Amino acid sequence: MLFPRAVLPSLLHLTPEWLRARGLKGVILDLDNTLLPYGEEEIPSDHRTWLEGLKAEMPVYLLSNALPERFARVQKALGLPGHAPALKPWLGFRKALRALELPPSQVAVVGDQIFTDVLGGNLVGAYTVLVPPLREREFFYTRFIRMLEAPFRKPRGGTA
Ligand SMILES: [Mg+2]
Repeated sequence: MLFPRAVLPSLLHLTPEWLRARGLKGVILDLDNTLLPYGEEEIPSDHRTWLEGLKAEMPVYLLSNALPERFARVQKALGLPGHAPALKPWLGFRKALRALELPPSQVAVVGDQIFTDVLGGNLVGAYTVLVPPLREREFFYTRFIRMLEAPFRKPRGGTA
């Protein structure tokens, strides 16, 4: 439950071709440290270009544990469906799947954290994809979580 199905070196490697080759037709995307640096509202230009290309090909749903006001501003700028705070890993994924109108086996859950994105995506039977965090938060708590995550930052049964 804690291992991702795939580990990619960056979000830019998640192309429509890569997704289609795995039978995936929609994406549930994490915000903080996946699409943009934690706590910021500006999306890096390479990620913006990547996202435009992806959403032209398949539906993308933003699912975040961010606070609602900041999330709403980012979401509006991107013009994507989504909601926050999702209380990942326990809540939010089923609502996202309903919005995408796809079975979980056809949906990629993409994020930087094991205990929210990967666990939550695995619990609903989606195809989980782990990407490296854009920026390490300096809080002790996050360093502690990263330490707990370390054994799981590779695909199930594989090496990466
Ligand atoms: Mg994140």
